[in-house]
Amino acid sequence: MRIVIVGGVAAGMSAASRAKRFDPDAEVVVFERGDFISYGACGLPYVLGGAVGEWDDLIARTPAQMRGRGIGVQLGHEVTGVDAEARTVTVLDRAAGRVATEPYDRLLVATGVSAVRPDWAQTDLAGVHVLREIPDGQAIADSLKGAGRVCIVGGGYIGLELAENMCRQGLSVVLLERNPDVGGRVLDPEYRPRLLDELGRHGVDVRCGTTVEGLIGKAGRVTGVQTDGGLVRADVVVVAVGVKPNVDLLRAAGARLGKTGAAAVDVRQQTNVDGVYAAGDNCESLHRVTRRRVHIPLGLTANRMGRIAGINMAGGDAKFPGVVGTSIFKVFGLGVARTGLTQGEAAALGLNAVSVDVTSTDHAGYYADARPIHVRLTGERGTGRLLGGQLVAENPLSVKRVDVIAAHLHSRGKVEDLFQMDLAYAPPFSGVWDVLLVAADRLN
Ligand code: FAD
Repeated sequence: MRIVIVGGVAAGMSAASRAKRFDPDAEVVVFERGDFISYGACGLPYVLGGAVGEWDDLIARTPAQMRGRGIGVQLGHEVTGVDAEARTVTVLDRAAGRVATEPYDRLLVATGVSAVRPDWAQTDLAGVHVLREIPDGQAIADSLKGAGRVCIVGGGYIGLELAENMCRQGLSVVLLERNPDVGGRVLDPEYRPRLLDELGRHGVDVRCGTTVEGLIGKAGRVTGVQTDGGLVRADVVVVAVGVKPNVDLLRAAGARLGKTGAAAVDVRQQTNVDGVYAAGDNCESLHRVTRRRVHIPLGLTANRMGRIAGINMAGGDAKFPGVVGTSIFKVFGLGVARTGLTQGEAAALGLNAVSVDVTSTDHAGYYADARPIHVRLTGERGTGRLLGGQLVAENPLSVKRVDVIAAHLHSRGKVEDLFQMDLAYAPPFSGVWDVLLVAADRLN
């Protein structure tokens, strides 16, 4: 049994480890076009900001460690084609310029997503970046040497994390967002102004409702961003306006894509092409609340999918149960989390949704340093089904209680049952009636 894996980060390496553990006799080979495997891309903004010391700190396993476990790892090897009939892939050794044909019995395409690079004038100027992989982060760090002003385009979670981390480096930061506010993919409109307030409080110059028209430069280096609201001067520009799934290989193999543009896979992470699997950011998954196929590219999801694919490719039978759309991030002192559906998303799907908002403190009000926490809980009228929750809090760690809501959504729980839960209580951690219980009681 020869298992070939394309892409060596979260999904690819989870699959490789699992496959080898399931069938130690299987030959497992990973082709990675870059120079790194098995690292936490989620930590990239924090290396730039200094909370993480070195790029290497993000690496969980080195190629040597993987080889020690009997997994073949080929860095700098790009898979450029798939012949699903012959069960071979074409591999380009980038350094040597050599092309080889490699056979497989099972193939996993775990190629992730690419950052969207809009069709603006002069995006090839030095000092213009995206942030997806370690070399992107290293290139940004190089550009920042001697820079005073950074312009971040995009107010999604990566743009917001970057804004915080650039400020921590003492840089002057302008954040441009086309929409009227930031965090639009995460929170309902009523909750988004808190993000703007936090960014403003820390000196980020946020310009919402601003459309980028092009980049301008001098002697091949960026000097500013041309917008519909005028010129924004910048020494470095980071574009964080979204991602698109890397599905070229899957398409070439004859694999079906879903409506989202990501790979359509079954619960075993198998595509419609015999022997070809896909996992991670390039895949759709089942949303357990809506029962629809969604593309929500996140780290745990990629690892979970990779694990399932690895077991199945090695001859096992594992199923990926889906996601509930849980995400969490921090902007300066603010924690932000959501799971399930927002009120806006539920309404757009035609659900008879209702939400309650509760503001309380993250732990007992009489205990030192109690900070405000805001919770919106959304349920379905008539059925009493829990649909989702959003949390924003001034103690970032306190929004991790989103996991309670996520767990309840996974089991398709009702609002009433959430209220009846035996949640942990002591004054340093929560009020005796935790804010989630208060919200569930009001929504019930
Ligand atoms: P990737 O990590 O993208 O890996 C795919 C690999 O495939 C790449 O190394 C690529 O070089 C390789 N590849 C592609 N094509 C080929 C080819 N043809 N041949 C050979 N190799 C190929 N998620 C969270 O859940 N929480 C967070 O806080 C969070 N923060 C993030 C912050 C940043 C800045 C970024 C960029 C991402 C963040 N994510 C976060 C997302 C998370 O990193 C991804 O969900 C995860 O890395 C996806 O893993 P993957 O294996 O599917 O794809």
